[in-house]
Amino acid sequence: ARAAAADAPITDGALKDGTAVPLLANLGTPAGAAEAVALGAEGVGLFRTEFLFLSSSSAPTIEQQRESYAQLLTAFAGKKVVVRALDAGADKPLPFLNDAHEENPALGLRGLRALRASEDILREQLTALAEADAQTRAAGNGADLWVMAPMVATVEESEYFVALAHEYDIRTAGVMVEVPSSALMADQIFASAEFASIGTNDLTQYTLAADRLLGSVAGYQDPWHPAVLRLIREVGAAGARTGRPVGICGEAAADPMLAVVLVGLGATSLSMAPTALADVRATLLQYSLDDAKAIAEAALAATDAASAREAARAASAS
Ligand code: PEP
Ligand code: MG
Repeated sequence: ARAAAADAPITDGALKDGTAVPLLANLGTPAGAAEAVALGAEGVGLFRTEFLFLSSSSAPTIEQQRESYAQLLTAFAGKKVVVRALDAGADKPLPFLNDAHEENPALGLRGLRALRASEDILREQLTALAEADAQTRAAGNGADLWVMAPMVATVEESEYFVALAHEYDIRTAGVMVEVPSSALMADQIFASAEFASIGTNDLTQYTLAADRLLGSVAGYQDPWHPAVLRLIREVGAAGARTGRPVGICGEAAADPMLAVVLVGLGATSLSMAPTALADVRATLLQYSLDDAKAIAEAALAATDAASAREAARAASAS
């Protein structure tokens, strides 16, 4: 399947019945943009902005940020680009934002919590994004910029972030769903958030209570676990009820059969490492939306990750 997928012409992501499923790229720097386009990315579903911050002992200037964001937007002119506000802490610690002495950094002042505690850094980032957006639009190279907050755990945090982003004329502001609380409160979160993107890496870590960096508990870090799938179903259903898009940007979207399940659970776009796009595109084309829903139902009914995988495989062959 891998060779066939690699040789197939690049088309937009879609199911067998024609249902569009935009296939987007996860990117860590603007330098990866050209390769992502060549591999068929229809846009960017997760731009991790940490790279701008990780190498320095202080936050980059607004100008430095604006230059990087403008480069990214220009590379994807006319396409959707979802930028994540700085996600510092736990697996991505930053000396000027995080307290190295927290006993449980994954449960500490990280993601949006850390940004809120240093709100000037968040405001500067939003300023740089809005300026890059305006600058690239004025040059005729604008993209459809969406901005999202990492590690949102409460309805109030979503309200806070979306209101702040709108202050900076960010047109589309949303949240990452990476914590079970926000998956379970998705309807209420969608009262403010204009979209959600599910980060399955952290959502799995927090659902199974297993540190994603710790080898001794790596066996728990499996997004096929039906508990994770049930939480994703909550978000998908809430998105359908409220008319809000629900993307997936964790590693799960790069697993072709799991991608089918995610669409069956209500995901409206999938974002992944660009090298995974061809296989996922080829696999989605083999199933209708009704097929994907039936395959998802089979996985949801399983008792553990291994049996969910097997149930999906069996349902997909029937
Ligand atoms: C995730 O948690 O799934 C995600 C996409 O974000 P990161 O891997 O950067 O934490
Ligand atoms: Mg995450």
